[in-house]
Amino acid sequence: MKSNDVVMPVLFVGHGSPMNAIEDNEFSREWSALAARVPPPKAVLCISAHWETAGVRVTAMEQPPTIHDFGGFPRELYEVQYPAPGNAWLAAEVKKALRNADVAFDNEWGLDHGCWSVLSRMYPDADVPIVQLSLDTGRSARQQYDLAKGLAPLRDNGVLIVGSGNLVHNLGLVEFSGDGPQDFNKPFGFEWAVEANQLFKKLIADNKHEKLTEYQSLGKAVRLAVPTPEHYLPMLYVLALRRSGEPIEWFNDKPVAGSLTMTSFLIGAH
Ligand code: ZN
Repeated sequence: MKSNDVVMPVLFVGHGSPMNAIEDNEFSREWSALAARVPPPKAVLCISAHWETAGVRVTAMEQPPTIHDFGGFPRELYEVQYPAPGNAWLAAEVKKALRNADVAFDNEWGLDHGCWSVLSRMYPDADVPIVQLSLDTGRSARQQYDLAKGLAPLRDNGVLIVGSGNLVHNLGLVEFSGDGPQDFNKPFGFEWAVEANQLFKKLIADNKHEKLTEYQSLGKAVRLAVPTPEHYLPMLYVLALRRSGEPIEWFNDKPVAGSLTMTSFLIGAH
């Protein structure tokens, strides 16, 4: 495939509820529309909030299984299979690009819902190979940001890098605005959630990467927004890959269930 003349964009997606994989709503409709705004990728490298490991791992199986890593949802969600193939070439390229990190090939994981809920909407035919890269719990946010910079050459080789998490994500404080979980996606955010989201957006737009890697010192709203780092970190991987002057296009910029935001962005779109 000839893709060397295209610099692939980089994408951060707020994935929110696993139900977005199968529900037709304003967020999942945006995901479906994304593929048309991105050059056809040779493969996707996905960094999901839902894969944390000791040490850096990259999926290396030919056919990654669909992982249903959630509880208490309707049966139809557990029946979703997303049979996108793996990609040995990309797994090897990741290991090479991050050679200082001693990346391990993984044959145990697969595609978790942070990855397949979004990508099954973008590429419903499951014809784009997908590789996942884990979040190394042994590295600080800054160290993971620095690590992610090593992935830059993949953008010149037809690889779409997707970070999947949520900028604001505090499940302990979720509040349903209407009759219950069926109203999960009704736009509604606590004041602190909206404040933290606004601050993140401003720092992202202004390239204040150091402040974003030191998010623990950004104040009370951010401490509530990021009680644990895993949904925030994929954003830092994406941001680390922004090249000078590249535009940022925001979408799905809304709070839901009080304590989450779906805010997403595409870097380097055409
Ligand atoms: Zn999640």
